Amino acid sequence: MLGHLEGGGRVILLEPKPLLTKAAKMPGLDGRKMSKSYGNTISLRDSPTKVEYSINTMPTDPARVRRNDPGDPQKCPVWKFHEIYSSDEVKAWVAEGCTNAGIGCLECKRHVVDAVLNELYIIQQRASEFNAQPELIRTIVSEGCEAAREAARWTLDEVRHALFLNHR
Ligand code: SF4
Repeated sequence: MLGHLEGGGRVILLEPKPLLTKAAKMPGLDGRKMSKSYGNTISLRDSPTKVEYSINTMPTDPARVRRNDPGDPQKCPVWKFHEIYSSDEVKAWVAEGCTNAGIGCLECKRHVVDAVLNELYIIQQRASEFNAQPELIRTIVSEGCEAAREAARWTLDEVRHALFLNHR
């Protein structure tokens, strides 16, 4: 819907713009987009053992059959995780080590495992704090609903005003 009402000199119902980071779309463990229906996900509540297993069993560049076969990170789903989680230094180490078979795939995946575990640890700690306080959750939800109602009321008033429906 157009945000600008012609002749009204007002802007209402402004279309929201996306604010996406470069990791807005997470790759799945098999290189496709991460989706529950593909069975290629890492869940926020997965245990460290499960996360480690999931990443260590990710497919890699099919050319790397043996440890000393060179590979190409661009053909490997693990690389997409490095692009999100790894520093430039680690990415350069992977690019070099993969293409000249200087590193093994498990060695390469270790950096991704550690980065994902670090990230999940923070999320899981926070989740367990909230889990222990159901009353707090109820309060947050109720305050959120009230704030949403208030915002909706404000928007409806704006629309009515713009459409000259304020006679009631
Ligand atoms: S070394 Fe890393 S980027 Fe290269 S094929 Fe193995 S897992 Fe993939």
